[in-house]
Amino acid sequence: MSLDKNARIYVAGHRGLVGSAVVRALQHQGSRNLLLRTHTELDLTEQAAVRDFFQREHPDAVIMAAARVGGIYANNSRPALFMRDNLLIQDNVIDAAHRSGVGKFVFLGSSCIYPKLSPQPIKEEYLLTGPLEPTNEWYAVAKIAGLKMCQAYRREFGFRAISLMPTNLYGPGDNFDLQNSHVLPALIRRFHEAKVRGDESVTVWGTGTPRREFLHVDDLADAVVYLLHTYDSEDIVNIGCGEDVSISELAELVMSVVGYQGRLIFDSTKPDGTPRKLLDVTRLNGLGWRAKIPLKAGIEHTYGWFQEHAAEARL
Ligand code: GDP
Repeated sequence: MSLDKNARIYVAGHRGLVGSAVVRALQHQGSRNLLLRTHTELDLTEQAAVRDFFQREHPDAVIMAAARVGGIYANNSRPALFMRDNLLIQDNVIDAAHRSGVGKFVFLGSSCIYPKLSPQPIKEEYLLTGPLEPTNEWYAVAKIAGLKMCQAYRREFGFRAISLMPTNLYGPGDNFDLQNSHVLPALIRRFHEAKVRGDESVTVWGTGTPRREFLHVDDLADAVVYLLHTYDSEDIVNIGCGEDVSISELAELVMSVVGYQGRLIFDSTKPDGTPRKLLDVTRLNGLGWRAKIPLKAGIEHTYGWFQEHAAEARL
């Protein structure tokens, strides 16, 4: 099936970090028929509403970027919410998409689906080979169920769903909440506010030693659009840049971009989470796609966006 510029593509979660970047990427490519619904217009946890939407609108393709997401604190403190919402949202959307005859479906997971102590870099085949990281296992189990559901629907019904597993993402439109966000936006905001107030030090959670890989969301969106058109298999695909940094290196980098000159304090009473999370991107590179945005340039871009949108950002 080929998707031309008039294809009706439903981007679920178009106001989020990932969904908004996918909308920008599709529009940049000339897509003229994007289907978008806000949370108030369509509650994806409500099965009847989701079925009704698909039966009425008949999208040609779906990018599934709607999810309940959050950083280490949010995941750890709201296990039921993260599990319930993600299971409901993805089951409703996948099933309704299949029933209404959607021709291509892109499911987005997360690198936290892999075992906590996976060998690094993490290959796709390490899925379900060991215990998960406890701070986000609820979210991870839901995402594993989602990708398995895509595989099951492909095997039983020939549903053309692909599942992509992005590494830690960041970029414009992120959640900059100090408590519930991920590390990169949290640090941008913390260093910025410390600079403005003239604080002597900034506290970073954990020991600073965990290592994480960060991908700019515009790179992810570019990969999603590329694979929407070119990839069709039940095998999951990691989406990353292939390089990681320690949290202390990240903190120094954000500090220099923001121009904060105080001290860094590491609060080791806060959880570190998994020690390292670097995806193996051999499969992705073999499919002909590579990340383009270097981390420093990506942080500069995101800090610029934060400064321009501080008032309306999800703070
Ligand atoms: P994770 O990759 O699922 O662990 O997601 P996070 O982005 O929430 O956390 C990544 C790492 O950054 C963990 O080791 C955190 O303890 C550490 N970290 C340091 N400061 C912060 C912060 O202000 N917010 C968050 N969310 N994490 C932080």
